[in-house]
Amino acid sequence: MFSYRHAFHAGNHADVLKHTVLIATLQHLLQKDAALTVLDTHAGAGLYRLDGDYASTSAESAGGILRLVPPAAPPALAPALQDYVDMVRAFNQGDATRVYPGSPFITQRLLRAQDKLKLFELHPTDARSLAGNIAQLEAGRQVAVLQEDGFEGVKKFIPPPARRALVLCDPSYEIKSDYLRVQALLQDALKRFATGVYAVWYPIIPRAEAHDLPRRLKTLAQKAGKPWLHATLTVKSSKLASPAAGEGARRPGLPASGMFVVNPPFTLQGVLREALPQMAQLLAQDRNASHTLEVG
Ligand code: SAM
Repeated sequence: MFSYRHAFHAGNHADVLKHTVLIATLQHLLQKDAALTVLDTHAGAGLYRLDGDYASTSAESAGGILRLVPPAAPPALAPALQDYVDMVRAFNQGDATRVYPGSPFITQRLLRAQDKLKLFELHPTDARSLAGNIAQLEAGRQVAVLQEDGFEGVKKFIPPPARRALVLCDPSYEIKSDYLRVQALLQDALKRFATGVYAVWYPIIPRAEAHDLPRRLKTLAQKAGKPWLHATLTVKSSKLASPAAGEGARRPGLPASGMFVVNPPFTLQGVLREALPQMAQLLAQDRNASHTLEVG
């Protein structure tokens, strides 16, 4: 169960999509003075070295964040993508990008004194790293690290006292049941707290559960009468292009991923309409790169 380590994937194309959506969503929610609670159900270790052993073994950031920062640094990024790049760059000194902030650190940097952040991480090593990394911030009681199951743990915090919350649900989907648990979490959360903002990341892979998940989340949002936004980013075909490799052969690495947001900020669609085509263009690994953006 604990084979997934986000350090292998930090800063890849899926993180670019997820963290761009996270930042744009938070920026909007933080415009109101009332306190916001952010619940990160699957937090990871919080900070990653892109030149460390894990990351350089997979080098996935080369197809993600490293295409957007110096020396690649494409000119004139869409504002949301620029905000994402600026966020990552803020964790680095000089021109090199060696450190990648995960969702806990991105969120913490944006929060104000009145806001709260609850971080769930079940993996003992990652939970320890996360707690150690967070302790350096001296964030005091604003940030809590809980070594608990995020699907269950989140329930005790919703609705939060000020009735404003963003729930980021970003499991590793290494076990099939994660897909159903995401669905169950949203169903339960919408009953407890129908006006919360719920952002779910999921992989787009040739697997029935992955294919069904956005459809099921859409149905839940529709039944609850809540607006939703669904953004996807594809960087390459999920099949090998070369016929010599054999019909149906799989390329290594994730080809695409999606973000499904219930109760999205009304600004998110416009922001992503500009940023997504640029993400697809700059992160393309073959000519199948594309994006979709759907709202309901
Ligand atoms: N959200 C992080 C970010 O954007 O930087 C990345 C999270 S990573 C995709 C998923 C994490 O969930 C892994 O670190 C894994 O150890 C952890 N995990 C797996 N099952 C969990 C569970 N039931 N509850 C909480 N954390 C879990």
